[in-house]
Amino acid sequence: MSIGLDTLRIIHYPDPRLRDKCAPVTMFDDDLAALTQRMLELMRDGNGVGLAAPQVGLLQRLFVMNHSGEPSDDRIFVNPRITDQHGSVEGEEGCLSLPGVHVAVRRAKQCVVTAQDLDGREFVVQTEDLIARICQHETDHLNGVLILDRMGPSDRIATKQTLRALEDNYKSNES
Ligand code: ZN
Repeated sequence: MSIGLDTLRIIHYPDPRLRDKCAPVTMFDDDLAALTQRMLELMRDGNGVGLAAPQVGLLQRLFVMNHSGEPSDDRIFVNPRITDQHGSVEGEEGCLSLPGVHVAVRRAKQCVVTAQDLDGREFVVQTEDLIARICQHETDHLNGVLILDRMGPSDRIATKQTLRALEDNYKSNES
């Protein structure tokens, strides 16, 4: 495969790849399946509940999630779209690309997600609460949107130092 799966790692804010809009997945092949397995592994290693492709530096429209930690709850969404949503609820969110940041984010309580599986077959799922929140958070990533864009003024102040430290860390890794 063209990208070395072993070298994939989770990238952190303010890496500019987290701000790009991702392109649709068009190849439903073994490479795609292997990539999603590697992403699930990285998500688990980071104790996360979701991971989008841009978070490993790949600008493709796909994410993986597991809300419970049980292997049978691994889910893969390729080319996902939120096709309906209802209600509004605030909850705390973190992000594997923003270590140390936890902020309150208002999201739809229920949403319908239309996506494709690893074979390219379309499916539709009705989600609510935590799963709906994860789907919205990960779909945001595919459009270059981070929880930083959705947090309120008090979190903006509270996270300032952590963000500055991440920015400094990014700069020193770059040079
Ligand atoms: Zn995230």
